[in-house]
Amino acid sequence: MRSLVKIFALAGFTLLSIPFATQAQDAPEAASPAFVVHKLTDFLYAIGEPHYYQKNFSYLLVGTNQALMFDSGANQKEDITEVARGITDKPLSMLPSHLHFDHLGGLHNFQSIYLVDTPFTRRFKRKDGLYHVPEPVYLGNIDHMVVPPFKVARLLQPGETIDLGGLKVRLMSVPGHTPDEVALYDETHNILLAGDHLYPSWLLAGNLKDYVASLDATLKVIDPQTAIYGAHADEDPTQVPAMTYGDVRAIRDKMVQIQAGRAKGEAFSDPELIKSSELYKVEKDISILTNIRFNDGRGYGY
Ligand SMILES: [Zn+2]
Repeated sequence: MRSLVKIFALAGFTLLSIPFATQAQDAPEAASPAFVVHKLTDFLYAIGEPHYYQKNFSYLLVGTNQALMFDSGANQKEDITEVARGITDKPLSMLPSHLHFDHLGGLHNFQSIYLVDTPFTRRFKRKDGLYHVPEPVYLGNIDHMVVPPFKVARLLQPGETIDLGGLKVRLMSVPGHTPDEVALYDETHNILLAGDHLYPSWLLAGNLKDYVASLDATLKVIDPQTAIYGAHADEDPTQVPAMTYGDVRAIRDKMVQIQAGRAKGEAFSDPELIKSSELYKVEKDISILTNIRFNDGRGYGY
């Protein structure tokens, strides 16, 4: 059995969980809130979705001039910007880590959306100037979700530094899960927000060659002190999905073995998402999935 309760120490950070709604005042039959806020530092908040089967985490960065959400959550009904508004009144923008449905659920609530500018994402700009994410990229059919076309307020170049005022993060292009996957690195505080590039559960490999190259690039940036936060929790959805430098090295090494045909996989399926795949165990709850077919019959990879 996997342990459901985990304790991890994050040097220098207080980890404080604050349910967004004051549950004590709610009627007993009221549903618990979709979003749960975890304050990681004075400028960084993790917003988890413990009731959602993919256990997503989005992150709010708060500078002195502006605030930036990294991902918009999976939930389309509750407004994640209200959660952010409960934390900061700075002008708010949202950057998706990539264009999968479970990271764009709250997109329609944001007035200002950022997007990485790559040949892949450029393809989605239509004549009307709006970005239309096609279903084979978005994959919303899995959860019966659609995404509206959206206006991009700011295109970001890979390697570009986003200055939020007293807080700077560098955009890293880290393809492998998807071609458009990005991570944010705060060099000053040595924090990496890794999206679906790295999280402590099943990692969905879209392209192993790209993934290994991105992991090598990540390992050049991070060190054993880096605080690394991913976009999906492991077994316990109440814990912020934190990872270590050692985890990243182990994932990288396993992917190299898979690529070389030297790793032993096992057949894996999941009632909510995965019809079939090959699963390669890394360590703890971390594993790598390849040859993925989703429950709606579609294959995954590029
Ligand atoms: Zn994804």
